[in-house]
Amino acid sequence: MDSVGVAAAAPDAGPGPAWQSKCPWGAPSTTSISCSLADVMSEQLAKELQLEEENAAFPEVVAAAEGPFITGENIDTSSDLMLAQMLQMEFDREYDAQLRREERKINGDSKVSISFENYRKVHPYDSDSSEDEVDWQDTRHDPYRADKPTTTPRRGFIGKGKDITTKHDEVVCGRKNTARMENFAPEFQVGDGIGMDLKLSNQVFNALKQHAYSEERRSARLHEKKEHSTAEKAVDPKTRLLLYKMVNSGMLETITGCISTGKESVVFHAYGGNSATEDKVIPSECAIKVFKTTLNEFKNRDKYIKDDYRFKDRFSKLNPRKIIRMWAEKEMHNLTRMQNAGIPCPQVVILKKHVLVMSFIGQDQVPAPKLKDVTLSSEDMKKAYYQILNMMQQLYRECNLVHADLSEYNMLWHDGKVWLIDVSQSVEPTHPHGLEFLFRDCRNVSQFFQKGGVAEALNERELFNAVSGLNITADNEVDFQAEIEALEKMNEDHVQNHGKKLSTFSSDGDPPIYDE
Ligand code: ADP
Ligand code: MN
Repeated sequence: MDSVGVAAAAPDAGPGPAWQSKCPWGAPSTTSISCSLADVMSEQLAKELQLEEENAAFPEVVAAAEGPFITGENIDTSSDLMLAQMLQMEFDREYDAQLRREERKINGDSKVSISFENYRKVHPYDSDSSEDEVDWQDTRHDPYRADKPTTTPRRGFIGKGKDITTKHDEVVCGRKNTARMENFAPEFQVGDGIGMDLKLSNQVFNALKQHAYSEERRSARLHEKKEHSTAEKAVDPKTRLLLYKMVNSGMLETITGCISTGKESVVFHAYGGNSATEDKVIPSECAIKVFKTTLNEFKNRDKYIKDDYRFKDRFSKLNPRKIIRMWAEKEMHNLTRMQNAGIPCPQVVILKKHVLVMSFIGQDQVPAPKLKDVTLSSEDMKKAYYQILNMMQQLYRECNLVHADLSEYNMLWHDGKVWLIDVSQSVEPTHPHGLEFLFRDCRNVSQFFQKGGVAEALNERELFNAVSGLNITADNEVDFQAEIEALEKMNEDHVQNHGKKLSTFSSDGDPPIYDE
């Protein structure tokens, strides 16, 4: 590029400040460009800040419209940054390993040894800090934003007379720059300068920003292949980082691929690592259920959780992202209850935000078939039926739960028995719609086994009574359902009057336990 023309555009640029001559990118032609770039940047800064504020006024709308699966520029950038972070972690681990080798070599058998401990990278992502990590997207008030975001209006200045402050004001701009440093990446290591009253000059800010971007591009190129694997494409960058942490910490050995992509979740297969968490041995094969953070699909499931008193108090105060985490949490609690009752189901390994790791039902990466996909002998079919009848009773009485999505789609056939999965929507029987859900479950099970030729299979109403221990006598579906709803209403009235639920629906004596 011809530097003369550019320099001429800034006739009284003079020799320029010291930083320019020392600037590592400091070709003479950049002198005037840097100056004007700084102006452009702060103009941009003002615009961006304004935009940010406008967005902040409608956070719900933004959240709903911009799911992580929509590829926009922001998403791409943050995805690159995730990759940069992953690369950094890998690099640090290698670096530390090398350090340890050197240490061993130098020390040998010597009685006096030196340590390189202080030189270790010990990358922050290695330590598992996600529990207390502030998820900036979750906080309504961004803790890092300047106290009162002093926006510069479009006209470029505020105040009057000698109190006038322009967008070029060093202090205002410097503070904004510091606050905006975090925008390089959600978890970019910018130190704790953000909390202090640091004032970064535009030049320094731009140089840092430039550096961050070129780093991203570099690592993005290196990881292009990885980026294209289906497993990674299926989840958003934040989730990817979370999964990566699990592998990096040694909890998981490898995440081999995707087993299922549903409307509300994506399930991966993984080989368990050798690091035990909380005294639990990691199963050799794991299933990772990632609850999708796109919100639309979850809207119609509100009623499951909104009316579940276990989550009621928390529901109203939560933003959608937190609600999705509650689904994952719910699945974990429910699986634990089932595990304790001895019901065959995946065993919980760990829950991290919206990602639930559990034992894998299946073998050698092949998931156990769903009941709907497997052809059983009539003997096995009958066996499966009685087992399910038993499990439904245990679920109701011992776990105080109704599955609420029980069907041949959520039962796996493995090791000669039926395993229950997918219990994020399960509720307690006293849930305002709990009995309706139970009836629906009974209908699915009844129909499946009656069609499957199990002569002993109870019809849906008999099954309902057998599971719940209630004695609803209506002999047709309409009346039966009306009685169910009446019971639910009675319970709700009780809640209204006494402020608490009936511990259980009253039943006429103990129901018979059905067994083979
Ligand atoms: P969704 O809400 O998407 O239906 P599920 O929990 O039913 O979520 O999981 C979807 C699919 O993933 C299941 O049908 C099953 O094939 C597979 N799957 C889920 N959990 C496991 C597991 N622990 N072991 C093996 N396969 C699993
Ligand atoms: Mn399912």
